[in-house]
Amino acid sequence: MRIAEVVFNLPLERAFHYLIPPALESTAQPGARVLAPFGSTSRIGFVVKRVSKSSFPMLKTVRRVLDSRPVIADERWALAEWLSRHYCCSFGEALAALIPGELRIRWSAAADARVEKCDGSVDGHAPTLTPHQQRAFEVIEGALQRRRTSTILLHGVTGSGKTELYLRAIASVLQRGDSAICLVPEIALTPQTIDRFQARFGACVAVWHSRLTRRQRAQVWQEAVSGARRIVIGTRSAVFSPLPRVGLIVVDEEHESTYKQGDTPRYHARDVAQARMGLTRGVVLLGSATPSVESYYEAAQGRSQLVELPERIAGRRLPSVDIVDMRDEFGARRAGLLSRRLQRALERAVQRQEQAMLLLNRRGFARVAQCRQCGTVMRCRRCAVTMVYHASQQQLVCHYCNFQTALPDICGACRKGVLRLRGIGTERVESELHRLFPVASISRMDSDTTKSRESHRQLYDAIKTEQVGLLVGTQMIAKGLDFPQVTLVGVVSADTALNLPDFRAGERTFDLLTQVAGRAGRGAQPGQVVIQTYCPAHYAIRAATRHDYAAFYAEEIQMRKRLNLPPWTHLVELTIHGTSHARVSEAAEGLAKALRRRIATRRMALLGPAPHRIPKLRRSFRMSVIVKGRTVAPMVELLRSVLQPGRRAHGLPVTVDVDPL
Ligand code: ADP
Ligand code: ZN
Repeated sequence: MRIAEVVFNLPLERAFHYLIPPALESTAQPGARVLAPFGSTSRIGFVVKRVSKSSFPMLKTVRRVLDSRPVIADERWALAEWLSRHYCCSFGEALAALIPGELRIRWSAAADARVEKCDGSVDGHAPTLTPHQQRAFEVIEGALQRRRTSTILLHGVTGSGKTELYLRAIASVLQRGDSAICLVPEIALTPQTIDRFQARFGACVAVWHSRLTRRQRAQVWQEAVSGARRIVIGTRSAVFSPLPRVGLIVVDEEHESTYKQGDTPRYHARDVAQARMGLTRGVVLLGSATPSVESYYEAAQGRSQLVELPERIAGRRLPSVDIVDMRDEFGARRAGLLSRRLQRALERAVQRQEQAMLLLNRRGFARVAQCRQCGTVMRCRRCAVTMVYHASQQQLVCHYCNFQTALPDICGACRKGVLRLRGIGTERVESELHRLFPVASISRMDSDTTKSRESHRQLYDAIKTEQVGLLVGTQMIAKGLDFPQVTLVGVVSADTALNLPDFRAGERTFDLLTQVAGRAGRGAQPGQVVIQTYCPAHYAIRAATRHDYAAFYAEEIQMRKRLNLPPWTHLVELTIHGTSHARVSEAAEGLAKALRRRIATRRMALLGPAPHRIPKLRRSFRMSVIVKGRTVAPMVELLRSVLQPGRRAHGLPVTVDVDPL
């Protein structure tokens, strides 16, 4: 009998051998998933090889084969190997990342047969490119023709015609008989982009994201494999689409942190895109108005090609940006949420029946509930974070584990003081707007108001048709939306990210302010932006007011160099988890010691151990150790030699995050 070598989605490097019963002989092929006995249960694993002999005694037998055709084929094998190597996970974990867990395909000949005409011939509605676009397109076209692995960074202000270039590049790829993937940061935020793709390429386009039903997923998968669809547009896992002959991967808004996967393997879709195109000699096209410092640095080093679109289409001007120094407001009277300048601008917008957006990147009503007597702050019972008060639910909510509790009448610690609500969120801004503008139509857009499948689209339509006059929201409103009637954008506080203990604070602030400012004045009326801050002199805020990426980058890259931070170096963060604080500390110390002993000779540095940013989550304590080095490979190699089987230290599980965000 033949033997299948199987790997599992577990932090185990080794493969397991199973006998293949005669009935499954033809389907238990490499790349197919099987159900196999494992311990006292069964698990789904991947057949990686067939062998005829095994040194293990007493082999168990494969129970079932899930796929009548392999789900892993071609360069996606090598891509999984790269994932496992680069992100320090097992091959089984890497393969699992390439396949949606619940995927169940019923291969039907019908979907294979329905191959549309997808030759990229451009129909009537493609506009003539502007001279800037034309120059950019020649660079992209040149790269596609050379058929050599390359990356192009398209840096263009919002509305400069980047999406039009994606469409042209994809058409060119289709004309060659290849296929293309377009990654977008979040599907709900990109209805317009999808509409434009479908208008241009019709049924050649498949859409891939996490809100698809099981059946839809299976269908998209099969149509991609069979070539019935030639373009997949989707969120980060779309980078693994089983399309044959992918010649181009577009990463729209490449700086977005949603491209980073939160579970093992903690991959970044932009880096996976580059690895995949490295295997097939394809092109990666990164687009952004605010490129990540990493990507811009790569271009500055000559490792990718920079192309710029410096102007908006049709000569539309970027909005003017005013800074309100909230320290002055504070001096004049007790600071409210909204400065006099911002209030006046809102009044004007309401009077003229124009639309306005207010950004505050914090949801809920109040960030902190604190006792007036003893100063105790309400914290989550399970996590080391403060609870946020949500007025709509009249509950304190933990934003990390979603634990909820009623706001108590008096402090639980001293049993005397009443609680005071401090720190503002979007709900509070919304209620302030209702007080100031009782007759205006006001809506809020954040993850609380867009929970259901359709809510985002409904809110989007209401704004588009101008049923909403004033919109309050988190970063969600800053992204990609194109509402020509918005003339005013107000930033309630530019400082929310600035004060976080994170070396990317400046970058995050610059991105968010630039993106939200780009929402104003997209139509015929000029736009105005008012930014409230307590740090008007900060370089990220100053550069954002002038829409000046180059100035921001120049300061930022110097700071990173001084502190020896990415992109000058790479970080790998190791987090040790456990329910006993003492054991977690002990394991972290032990791990750090073992690493320190070996890095002395290898041009690496070690930071920590220190409590993780969130030192306790869902009753589990967390300590971090960070390894820093010039390149990733030697760091991962070192970790593999130091960590115990099952990716553990002193018996406790360790998560490995390469290039953490
Ligand atoms: P970005 O992706 O950089 O925000 P878009 O590609 O969405 O820019 O372009 C902004 C607007 O200009 C869109 O409405 C688009 O249809 C239009 N547009 C893009 N290129 C051209 C062009 N060459 N001629 C006319 N209109 C264009
Ligand atoms: Zn919690």
